[in-house]
Amino acid sequence: MRLMDYHTHTNHSMDGKQTIRELCASMLALGAAEACLTEHIEPGHPEPGIDKPPVWPDWFAEIAAARRDFPELTLRAGIEIGDNPFCREATRALLDSLPLDFRLLSLHLVNGIDCYDAAAYYKGKTRVQAYREYAAAKAESVCAWEDFDSVAHIGYVGRYAPYPMEPEDRPLQYRDAPEELDALLRHIIRLDKCLEINTSGYDSIGCPMPHPSIVRRYIELGGTCFTFGSDAHTTDRDMKDIRRGMEEVRALGGKWYCGFEGRKRTAYRL
Ligand SMILES: [Zn+2]
Ligand SMILES: [Zn+2]
Repeated sequence: MRLMDYHTHTNHSMDGKQTIRELCASMLALGAAEACLTEHIEPGHPEPGIDKPPVWPDWFAEIAAARRDFPELTLRAGIEIGDNPFCREATRALLDSLPLDFRLLSLHLVNGIDCYDAAAYYKGKTRVQAYREYAAAKAESVCAWEDFDSVAHIGYVGRYAPYPMEPEDRPLQYRDAPEELDALLRHIIRLDKCLEINTSGYDSIGCPMPHPSIVRRYIELGGTCFTFGSDAHTTDRDMKDIRRGMEEVRALGGKWYCGFEGRKRTAYRL
């Protein structure tokens, strides 16, 4: 089984704490054959310091050096697109100007507020409202894009939710917003793109993102392709729970997991 981690951050992301070289060494030690950097871009993010993209020439030069120094590892260059409806045109122009292997479509801002700013985002909202508002924003975001490869961490809203609740209620589930989730999943399937299984969820919300009920619905609607990512920002989280996520999706009936080179997909049987 070819092990790959398709969601990672290095110190070229504003919150990443591992160098590209450290990531490569750690991935190889963990048995990965392929790793994809997915550095953040967060156009128009309201919080100071977050809208700070990598210095592109430095990033590409370091990637080239790491490819030379770690020939056993297939290292891909990707971006986690922090979608912002007000900046889409500029974001697309930027992406088109970069020689990327992979585009991971992500959303952290819901109506201008990042869910991780719990004091602001959840204030005055019930769980039902906060989760549905997120699902609606995520559906709008995904449906506004065509040129992407995989959709990141559906259910991000559950990560920081401050409500007293049973652990099983923390993840966003299919029943929380079936219409919004159907629209989003159908769009991914129609375009023949991938659904990301973000395995950081095992530690933060008790299951991967998205929740198995959403993965089941994706498969039921005809979805077959997945990417798997740890969302590691530090070496101790590289590859974390990737095998576990792959097992779980295979058991649900998932068919393919994918890698990308120059935006061209290679699919492997799960
Ligand atoms: Zn993210
Ligand atoms: Zn990330």
